[in-house]
Amino acid sequence: MKFADLHLHTFFSDGTFSPEELVGHGSRLGFAAMALTDHDSVEGCARMAVACDATGIEFIPGTELTAELGDTELHLLGYFLDTQNKQLLTEISKFQIVRQNRIHEMVAAINKLGVPLTTETVFALANCKSPGRPHVARALVKAGLVANLDEAFERFLKKGRPAWVPKAKMSALEGMELIHQAGGLAVMAHPGLNRTDDIIPDLVAAGLDGIECFHTKHSTAMAERYLEIAEKYNLLVTGGSDCHGFSKNKPLIGTVKLPYEHVQKMKDVIQNRKSEIGNQK
Ligand code: AMP
Ligand code: ZN
Ligand code: FE
Ligand code: FE
Repeated sequence: MKFADLHLHTFFSDGTFSPEELVGHGSRLGFAAMALTDHDSVEGCARMAVACDATGIEFIPGTELTAELGDTELHLLGYFLDTQNKQLLTEISKFQIVRQNRIHEMVAAINKLGVPLTTETVFALANCKSPGRPHVARALVKAGLVANLDEAFERFLKKGRPAWVPKAKMSALEGMELIHQAGGLAVMAHPGLNRTDDIIPDLVAAGLDGIECFHTKHSTAMAERYLEIAEKYNLLVTGGSDCHGFSKNKPLIGTVKLPYEHVQKMKDVIQNRKSEIGNQK
């Protein structure tokens, strides 16, 4: 049986693996296909494609966007993206700048509490265009200002804590349109984490292509529930580990194995759309 992991992060956003290291793990675990879904970035896709090619793994270029519909936050995964698409690159670069500004705001809030973290140490450690809270947490640990990542989130960075700064979100409808115009499929990430079930019908009406049924943090019952929802709305089914590197001494990659038939269905939809566009010309 062939399997895929369609939710992975590298050090081009808040993961710790290089694309090559990630593909090394994928190869060791026998994956047939892997997607890279760094937050607000497609920068790692070129290296990941080369590494996958060298090991005979099928590569799917992707990204993970933070979006909202009304008051509900959701994460949108884009798959099979044209990573050279101008509008996509322009939009994500705006979100990268907002992410960089947010680091300054988070560090200032931490400094206000008398904790002497510097933005330089965070940026040096992040060393990417798409920095986020995990980088601040890692910098706090590295500087010996907290004992571990959990303490950093609990004391400072979790929602409602003093250094929590809301993240800029794009409208879900614009996010899906951005993905579509770049040739991609728009998929709702880890719905079980975000309590986003109520908005699924509206997203479907606006062009949502799929839903991430299998995710490290989804229970079996949750996965089954989202499989039913996928069936009801005729959505593609995706899944992935959301691996960000080593977590408690082992990487999450390998914990979710999406049967390859779902990747084939995604490719069929892309192919049908391409031929429809071709027929219209
Ligand atoms: P950001 O995109 O900057 O808001 O950061 C979100 C990322 O932080 C998520 O993708 C997780 O990897 C990580 N994260 C969020 N909450 C926690 C937590 N309580 N402990 C550890 N990591 C977390
Ligand atoms: Zn992340
Ligand atoms: Fe997410
Ligand atoms: Fe993710």
